[in-house]
Amino acid sequence: NAPTGAAATTTGTVPGIRRIVAVASGKGGVGKSTVAANLAVALARQGLAVGLLDADIYGPSVATLFGITARAQLVEKRIQPVSAHGIKLLSMAMMTDPGKAIIWRGPMASSAMMQMVEQADWGVLDVLVIDLPPGTGDIQLTMAQKLKPDGAIIVSTPQDLALIDARRAIAMFGQVNVPVIGIVENMSYFLCPKCGAQSDIFGHGGAETAASEMGVHFLGAIPLHASIRAASDAGTPPAAGDSPQAEAFTHLATEVAA
Ligand code: ADP
Repeated sequence: NAPTGAAATTTGTVPGIRRIVAVASGKGGVGKSTVAANLAVALARQGLAVGLLDADIYGPSVATLFGITARAQLVEKRIQPVSAHGIKLLSMAMMTDPGKAIIWRGPMASSAMMQMVEQADWGVLDVLVIDLPPGTGDIQLTMAQKLKPDGAIIVSTPQDLALIDARRAIAMFGQVNVPVIGIVENMSYFLCPKCGAQSDIFGHGGAETAASEMGVHFLGAIPLHASIRAASDAGTPPAAGDSPQAEAFTHLATEVAA
């Protein structure tokens, strides 16, 4: 599907970007970047003009998830996002030397994030998905206050520890008046690639229960599956293919686009 961009207006906080959706998690390693990347691809497959900003300044992974080694170019002092799988992408990894640590204090990282939003040539977008760093720090606050996103998605595993932090993330968005679109339960159950058996290694239904307790929408469950890990490592987001796992991301995109 060709991106339409037709519905984009200049009424949001960033000219040309109609909707900003932040993807957050209380904890690292729960699959936030995987969900953000595949949500972006699934939204683009529904015909929307989509951008994906990797705001995880200290641990950027979006370039790897899309197999991008190219650098973002500057044209007339504006950063040019890199295109892949029908979406526009930007990450610190496209602007720094591979393997080099980014050792910035919070305000510098927040300002890098804002520059990537405001000083990049995103063109006209229906949705800009922002992959936030885990937790509730400077970048999340700056993003919430300055960009006033239309909503945030919280990614959690079904496990108690991850859910406790997910609750903190939800509380933070409440405090800064960012609507929480809902919770996605990633690594919801293990699907054996050999026999197809399902096993609840991190428990079952934790995120759905937490969502209903907090009065937040439950956006669905994504299995822990070797094919998701393998496709991600190979730089091809699973949502770009037609595996049963892509379905979970299509469902999520439908919920988010609604
Ligand atoms: P986060 O952004 O929360 O730190 P990532 O998206 O980087 O987490 O995911 C952490 C690791 O888990 C990566 O190796 C990723 O490929 C893997 N992973 C994430 N979600 C799944 C899933 N549903 N099935 C299999 N592997 C997954």
